[in-house]
Amino acid sequence: MAMTTTKKMDSVLATYSNHEIIRKGDRAVQSRHELSIEILDCLVEIEGRSIFLKEGYSSLFDYCTRRWHYSPPKAGRFIAAARCMKSFPGVRDLLLRRKITLCGVSMIAGILTDENSDKILQEVSGKRFVEIEKIVASLKIAPKIRESIRPIGLQEPAGGRDRSADHEDLFQPNRTLGNYQIDSDFVDEQTDQLGGDSPIDNHKMKLEQRYEIRFSASEEFCRDLERAKMVCSRSWNLEAILGRAIKDLLEKRDPEQKEARLKKREARKQSKSEGQAQRFAKSGSPAIPATVSGSEMADEKEPPGKGAEGLPVRSRHIPAHLRDAVFNRDKGRCTYTSSLDIQCDSTAHLQIDHITPFCRGGGHSLENLHLLCGKHNRLAAREMSLTKR
Ligand SMILES: [Zn+2]
Repeated sequence: MAMTTTKKMDSVLATYSNHEIIRKGDRAVQSRHELSIEILDCLVEIEGRSIFLKEGYSSLFDYCTRRWHYSPPKAGRFIAAARCMKSFPGVRDLLLRRKITLCGVSMIAGILTDENSDKILQEVSGKRFVEIEKIVASLKIAPKIRESIRPIGLQEPAGGRDRSADHEDLFQPNRTLGNYQIDSDFVDEQTDQLGGDSPIDNHKMKLEQRYEIRFSASEEFCRDLERAKMVCSRSWNLEAILGRAIKDLLEKRDPEQKEARLKKREARKQSKSEGQAQRFAKSGSPAIPATVSGSEMADEKEPPGKGAEGLPVRSRHIPAHLRDAVFNRDKGRCTYTSSLDIQCDSTAHLQIDHITPFCRGGGHSLENLHLLCGKHNRLAAREMSLTKR
């Protein structure tokens, strides 16, 4: 029955225009918000009159989880918000004007006092959840987090599920062009998929031990981390970023690695001088030091500039200085802007996109290049019918 209704709804929605779908979604969110306020009002009464006790529940929490089948976190949020709303009438007003969400209320519930409530409510009004989280964190003493590294179980290695090939940069198939142009949505998805204590059901799967690492960090650390995420958006998950940083540090500081490098260098020097001595013995002419000419070096670095007929070939390679200039000008953010002037602003999976596509003659000029996140790059390409999907 439910299946039939869903199917019917799907087919009705399929006839809607994008604009109608957006309106419908907005209306649904509005009614859900209003319903949440109604639930909070009821909770205030249920607690005030101890209705839950008379109905056979040990607490308001017990009432929410057993009677309404709320998950414990959801019950906690609703109860915290209801109590907060009862103590501070300004909260209900913000809720009614949709200047705060129920989650936002549950977040500020613990820090509001008669003295600070007016100021804090003014501060959080109209803010997004992450911003409220920051405001709240700036007003409370941080809990002490004990640093720890503990094994948590087996998991398929991240490399095993690398689907990044599906997300090849649309205009620049050369995956080594820069750090900030390779898309890898799979990082998020895999984190979502692997949550929980799921049992191991496939013994053939190669598994590796995973660890949970906990520590608290300073504001400066987080700023640097955000910046690092921005400049290497390919590997924007924490493990990849910190893993790279640790590898770089070991390469510079680890005495073992330093010694191995030194030995390698000496061996190379040795074999080079032996080779020169042999050549000298054979030809009788003085050994010429094995230097690389400027043009040879350029050949190594630059992609071929001439075709078989000696004609110049257009290269998709965007010079490093230009990529950096685009990145800096666009402030390391996706520049996609909707018709209603809403900018994406994402800093993840950034790619350099040609405004006039490369395949339609668009060049590598600063004016023709901009940063897009992987998703908006694909959207742009879809809209230009460059891709099949
Ligand atoms: Zn975007």
